[in-house]
Amino acid sequence: MLLLFVIGCSLTSLTIWKVLSSRDRALAEVNVHGLNLTQALGTYTEGIVRQSSLLLLGLVERLENEGSGPVQIQRIRALIDRQQPLMPQLSGITVYDNQGHWLMSSNRPIPVGANSRDRAYFTHHRDNPDREPFIGPPIRSRSNSEWVVTISRRFNDARGEFAGVVAVTLGVENFLRVFGKLDVGQDGAIGLSFTDGTLLVRYPFREQDMARNFSQTPIYAKYLVDQTVGTASFTSSLDGVERLYAFRKSETLPLITTVALGKDEALTAWRIEALLSAVVVTGLLGLTGLIGWFLLVDIRRRTLAEEALHVTQQQLLDSNQQLELLATMDALTGLANRRCFDETLAVQARRAQRDSSTLALLMIDIDHFKLFNDALGHVAGDACLQAVSKLLRTCVRRPSDLLARYGGEEMAIIMPATDSEGAAAVAQLIIDRLQQENITHPNSPFSRVTMSIGIATAAGPQLEPILAFIEAADQALYRAKAAGRNRYRH
Ligand code: GH3
Ligand code: MG
Ligand code: MG
Repeated sequence: MLLLFVIGCSLTSLTIWKVLSSRDRALAEVNVHGLNLTQALGTYTEGIVRQSSLLLLGLVERLENEGSGPVQIQRIRALIDRQQPLMPQLSGITVYDNQGHWLMSSNRPIPVGANSRDRAYFTHHRDNPDREPFIGPPIRSRSNSEWVVTISRRFNDARGEFAGVVAVTLGVENFLRVFGKLDVGQDGAIGLSFTDGTLLVRYPFREQDMARNFSQTPIYAKYLVDQTVGTASFTSSLDGVERLYAFRKSETLPLITTVALGKDEALTAWRIEALLSAVVVTGLLGLTGLIGWFLLVDIRRRTLAEEALHVTQQQLLDSNQQLELLATMDALTGLANRRCFDETLAVQARRAQRDSSTLALLMIDIDHFKLFNDALGHVAGDACLQAVSKLLRTCVRRPSDLLARYGGEEMAIIMPATDSEGAAAVAQLIIDRLQQENITHPNSPFSRVTMSIGIATAAGPQLEPILAFIEAADQALYRAKAAGRNRYRH
């Protein structure tokens, strides 16, 4: 049972460990996947920005060298018209003068009175002599009200004064098209933002998020403080969905790419696997338990059967022993019976012949016992026989001696390795003790129960045949009777 319990525990802990580690693995895979995506998207974005910057650099060169008069602008337009099909991500290129008036706009006519002096890119370049390209926050295009991101450069006049701005507009739509081709699931999102937290593009697109600042979200507030690339997991304050975020700060541009995947969604496959494992293991445990239970029941049944068998066996042995005892015992007196007497005498006679030792046999007969019965009844006679047997038992002490009821009121004692003197001593002891006992016998001349004893002793071949030996004892008994009873004779 303990073994089964240990097996069950091991199986359960092994499964839990396996399921938990496979969950960690699944999450790690999601993180790696997210990081790879940020790498790819970051590279893609950097490429577009670099291309746009190069294009702008060429245009700035021309504008600065050739000026921004109508003829020059016309030539630039022709150049742009040739270049633009090579850069499908570009929504348009616009040239502004130092007052923010539109000098040229690719692929659309200049709206009447159009002025962009309030736009962030314009004020940036006007107030900043820096010649580096500027990536502006997303704005709604004044021409078609689409969301666009601008990349712009300033151009100077011959005196080195601010002469205007050239800006490339990139439709957010273009980014969304690319981002949309990536599978980030139902709860996933891809974001592109400035390092200050201003969102440039988010897929799936949400109008309310555009140009919003996310600098207070954990990614900016906690992780991007000391990391340029990494992963994080937290619950969105916007929709309450827990997501796994992978983020990467561009090495060359002030941009951050973020890929977020729904944690629940990412763990769907793992959850199914864990459920399957749980079902299989529970089934196995149940089966093991069932087998164990059956085994246990079987073992208990066997043990009980064995115990019952053992008890029966013991009982049988006991009854056999009792039967054996009964077979050799006289019921009334508890002495050895005639059968036992015969067997023992035969055995002892053989032993005495072998050892050349003397075997003694005492034949004891109660005197006038018929009269005792006549006077006091058979029940008293039986009681007298029992009392006499008890007394005789006290006189026979050697373990090899056998006291037996020979028949009726006649008893016999087989005494191995005993000569006639020893036998006589025992006979005398019996007579004396019976006298001390003083059992009343109304019809006896002695007025008490007395016994006559015949002793026969023999050694070696004298013991053959055994009946002659018994006969000798009988004869001696007869002589004791004839001599007046209450005595022994050899
Ligand atoms: P004695 O031996 O002195 O010559 O006289 P006795 O009266 O003992 O002679 P006998 O051997 O003829 O009689 C034996 C009597 O013992 C006969 C019988 O009534 C009685 N007796 C034998 N076996 C039993 C017994 O088991 N119970 C009782 N109560 N009496 C028994
Ligand atoms: Mg008799
Ligand atoms: Mg007698």
